[in-house]
Amino acid sequence: MENPALFSVLRSYLEEYGAGVDVINKFTDYWMSIKPHGTLPCPLCFMQNGIISRLVPLVKQHNYEPLKCEACGETLYIPIPDYK
Ligand SMILES: [Zn+2]
Repeated sequence: MENPALFSVLRSYLEEYGAGVDVINKFTDYWMSIKPHGTLPCPLCFMQNGIISRLVPLVKQHNYEPLKCEACGETLYIPIPDYK
């Protein structure tokens, strides 16, 4: 998927969760295979359970767009670029 900014945020969440290099590489491979408007994978579910669960966008808050995982309920905060 062509969204390097979003990918780098999800990747940094993986690193924060303590994911190993192999998990990060798998996540990267999966990301590259996502079609535009495809399912955004939850990094926490991917790391802990090896499953692809869907991140659903919530209402934007200030300069963040929250994404909530349908499976584990984790909320990720994605900075909105160029927020003024
Ligand atoms: Zn999840």
